[in-house]
Amino acid sequence: MAVFCTGCGVKLQSENPEQPGYVPASAMEREQVICKRCFRIKHYNDLTPVPMDKNDFLQILHRIGETKTLVVKIVDLFDFNGSWLPGLMRFVNFNPVLLVANKTDLFPHVNWGRIEQWVRLQAKQGGLKPVDVVFCSGEKGTGIKTLMEAIEKHRQGGDVYVVGATNVGKSTIINQMLKHAGAEETAPLLTTSRFPGTTLDMIKIPLDDGQALYDTPGVINEHQMAHYISHEELKVILPTKPVKPKIYQLHSAQTLFFGGLARLDFNAGERQSFVCYMSNELLVHRTKLEKADQLYVQHLGEMLTPPGKKSLQEWKELEPHQFSIGEEPVDIVFSGLGWVAVKGTGAHLTAYAPEGVGVYVRPSLI
Ligand code: GDP
Repeated sequence: MAVFCTGCGVKLQSENPEQPGYVPASAMEREQVICKRCFRIKHYNDLTPVPMDKNDFLQILHRIGETKTLVVKIVDLFDFNGSWLPGLMRFVNFNPVLLVANKTDLFPHVNWGRIEQWVRLQAKQGGLKPVDVVFCSGEKGTGIKTLMEAIEKHRQGGDVYVVGATNVGKSTIINQMLKHAGAEETAPLLTTSRFPGTTLDMIKIPLDDGQALYDTPGVINEHQMAHYISHEELKVILPTKPVKPKIYQLHSAQTLFFGGLARLDFNAGERQSFVCYMSNELLVHRTKLEKADQLYVQHLGEMLTPPGKKSLQEWKELEPHQFSIGEEPVDIVFSGLGWVAVKGTGAHLTAYAPEGVGVYVRPSLI
């Protein structure tokens, strides 16, 4: 008989530790079994990426487009661009989308009205006109009630599909909603059910009126820094507390290093402030542009860390991205690491990150 993970709903197996749903055979005998990935997340707060068959996910997306449902799309506000899932909108068809911006607790004091405008504008540019935007912190439980009310209002008696990239906080939010709805933690309301026609599994949560909320599998965000460093190092760069912006007044021909993971050169432009929104644990190092290359070679893995010794064995060179900034303030975003806000005024910058990590420029968020 097939057994399913009570954490994420995936079908459990004991054959291949590299594939989703792995548990050691001995653990299969227990009553409530969770897969290796859920176990690591639960006990070590460890995010193990799981390979996913894209075709399976496409089938799920097609199904969303074919039925009348409310799509709840969750993004990580701290990695907005990286967690956006641009391909999704093609499949949603004409179904309403409720946009949820999670992890608000990581932000310093900000003007949320302005941030909401920013999110709506970014959504529009990404081809999405959400029926509503809800801000929440799955971790702290703030905004959950508003989210539940918005879901109830917009689903109009229909099913709900929750979608999002991995690590946006989908499971955390769903568990918060279950708590609010009165589900006991010891006897979770989650009923796991396989999705017909696919090998992937979704969690189905029955709603009062016979409809259901489906938790779809997360799509792996391939452009994140997370894929290039170890799990221990990841803890340094993933913020858990409100981020304290670090401000640097830079002249042209100066460079900032973010650990050894990323680098920003101020090639030309007026003296101005560079405001870094990144994990408080990540060390920022300022140097002269002319010394930067040598510094990197000499101190990578020591003063400039992470990466640490282990990740260095497979470390690739940082890849440059050139930006010429106009008059408007912008953020230079390093996907999964954070961003640096610059005033603009015609600055020329070069941003470096490991090959494959998304580096973008966007209108200032804060
Ligand atoms: P999922 O892959 O989308 O289901 O994401 P999870 O719910 O497993 O969360 C991924 C990581 O983000 C975990 O380390 C969570 O503790 C963290 N997380 C989730 N929600 C929040 C939040 O609101 N704020 C913060 N700071 N972290 C969060």
